[in-house]
Amino acid sequence: MKRQFLAILILIASFNAKADEGMWLLSLLDGYTIEDMQSKGFKLTAEDIYSVNQACLKDAVVIFGGGCTGELISPDGLLLTNHHCGYGTIQSHSSVENDYLTDGFWAMSREEELPNPGLSVRFLRYMDDVTGDVLDGTENADTREEYEAIIQGNVASIAAVANAEGKYESTVRPMFYGNQYFLFVYERYNDVRLVGAPPSSIGNFGRDNDNWMWPRHTGDFSVFRIYANSENEPAGYSAENVPYQPRKFFEISMDGIEKGDFTMILGYPGSTQQFLYSRALKHFAEVSMPMRVDLRTERMEIMDRYMQQSDEVRIQYASKYRGVSNAWKKWQGAIRGLERLDAVQKKVKFENEFREWVGESEDRTEAYGDLLPSFEEIYTELEHFDVIRDLMGEAVFAIEILRIASAVEYMMMDSIPAEEILNRSKRMYDDIHLPLDKEMFRTMMENYNDLSPVEFHPDILQEVNEKYKGDFNAWTEDVYDKTPVRSLEALGDFLRIYERNQGKAMKKLKKDDLFIALDQFRNIYTQRVRPAESVLTESLEHLYKRWVKARFEMKPGKRFYPDANFTMRLTYGEVKGYSPEDAVKFGYHTTLSGVIEKSRQDQPDYVIPEKLRELYEDKDYGDYGVDGTMPVCFTASNHTSGGNSGSPVIDAEGRLIGINFDRNWHGTMSDEMYDPGMCRNIAVDIRYILFIIDRFAGAGYLLDEMVLVEEEAPTVVEADAGMN
Ligand code: ASP
Repeated sequence: MKRQFLAILILIASFNAKADEGMWLLSLLDGYTIEDMQSKGFKLTAEDIYSVNQACLKDAVVIFGGGCTGELISPDGLLLTNHHCGYGTIQSHSSVENDYLTDGFWAMSREEELPNPGLSVRFLRYMDDVTGDVLDGTENADTREEYEAIIQGNVASIAAVANAEGKYESTVRPMFYGNQYFLFVYERYNDVRLVGAPPSSIGNFGRDNDNWMWPRHTGDFSVFRIYANSENEPAGYSAENVPYQPRKFFEISMDGIEKGDFTMILGYPGSTQQFLYSRALKHFAEVSMPMRVDLRTERMEIMDRYMQQSDEVRIQYASKYRGVSNAWKKWQGAIRGLERLDAVQKKVKFENEFREWVGESEDRTEAYGDLLPSFEEIYTELEHFDVIRDLMGEAVFAIEILRIASAVEYMMMDSIPAEEILNRSKRMYDDIHLPLDKEMFRTMMENYNDLSPVEFHPDILQEVNEKYKGDFNAWTEDVYDKTPVRSLEALGDFLRIYERNQGKAMKKLKKDDLFIALDQFRNIYTQRVRPAESVLTESLEHLYKRWVKARFEMKPGKRFYPDANFTMRLTYGEVKGYSPEDAVKFGYHTTLSGVIEKSRQDQPDYVIPEKLRELYEDKDYGDYGVDGTMPVCFTASNHTSGGNSGSPVIDAEGRLIGINFDRNWHGTMSDEMYDPGMCRNIAVDIRYILFIIDRFAGAGYLLDEMVLVEEEAPTVVEADAGMN
């Protein structure tokens, strides 16, 4: 009796353990997924989320720009996304006089909304399983090349038809490594105007320090509006355009959130790799990420030292530093997370089970017996090339002067006039501090020399070891003394030779150590690394296709989801904190008191606007506060990834409760292996957004076009509501 009880418990536990994992394709919700969602509190139907016949939630979600998600929140095309997604746009309107990044920006009428050439949003109009059409004819292919060619031809014609003579932009994407293919048809709107953004001290509060962290206190949102022509169709910017009328927009819930509430997210996660073979994960977690982290640590240490010494350098390198530190921090979380999960061993264990399962029948042995040995063989070979690829990206081409040299050389090869080359190069020199870059060169060249196998050393490193007796410092001094790209002035002088005699100038480059190094590194990559990698990865793709198919057969009852590939997905979970280590518990939400606690006027990361402090002191929260507190951010167990930034966080009724903007550091390994106990998405509470728009910015008129909903019956509040 006792035993049986235990067995049932284990069953339930393991079901729950996997409950929050998954990035589901919208047109496949019917059946188990929607039932599971409903059993967890979701009140709507699959048709309410995705339908080809009626307006549905997917119509209120867009791809914002190139790599974020956004959502419609009014019948007049008002859109929310993250501050960090709108950052470039906000920056493009900023100047010393109108510093919108620092001070924020709010259009006080539609006339004041700012157009943004180059910014667009895409609506997913429909999606379709086109596997049959894509594979049509492949049964007659004799070789792998023929097979690929047939698929490519089919994909191109399916997309061309779906484009409906230019009305749509379509793409066919493989799922499960080509076991399925889906068509995605988008409509692009090009007139997207900036409506408002809080100051960075709210929108990016905590900056790098808090990035990937929970507890979080960032008001990471910005507001835009989509415009259309008088027919509600896409149109380039025109003063005649009118606000776009969406098929659907999100109502906003004023009910707030409680621990355990159902939540879901619709959005565009960029890339995950859950099916990775154990050896590949081991290399990624134990070689590739640690090496890249170490290289970035050195790069950041160099940048930081120079940034501390001069305000000018600090400004020049601020966004570069941010770009480097983002993945640096994420990878460290992922390394630790994978280690904590014993992820490689889990995969090895599964692969052993798989081997046994295959061995049970001759048919399986014939169909899949080669898979694991082939993975092992290919990855063993691929690892060498991966190290070089990582070093090229993280060390060699982290040196800015090499990138300048490369750009100048290409322009010269294209016979672009000297004046034009000089003009185009000016911008590149604006943000480079040569003493810093020189140090980067020396350090990164030494790293390449130490970390790569000798067979991948360019000849020039051999010379440094011989001619300079391995003294990289002396070599670096020589390189930066002599190269014609050592400064804009030197480049100007050199281009005068080029102007008179192109051949002579080219010859001069061939003798310059920097250009010699550039040429040799490029050759190693393009002639040896890339070709080998592409042959190996192509073979891998075919193996993965069969690997995933075999896994479907091995676990017939299991729900699988395809890896993220920047197509619209649904993920669901619940509002929840977590416990990262013994005796430490993180609650599920933060409040404005936490912002005030963290605030430090002498620390740029934690400066807050005076007005926010006043609102806090006066408890002037309008209808957005709860019992004298102002909610700011919350966490939930939705399975998200990069690209989900700006995604709507939705409640059981399909209403907006927040905007997703990050994940917790302890859960950043979710792209490789999801841990329900540890992985959390982080969202700004919609009430904080409304509070900032209304009370802080005085742009409350925007709320008039939104639909704010408050249910009469209050939800049950748990006694330990602040804890996970
Ligand atoms: N911060 C990410 C993004 O920009 C979201 C994430 O990785 O969770 O898309």
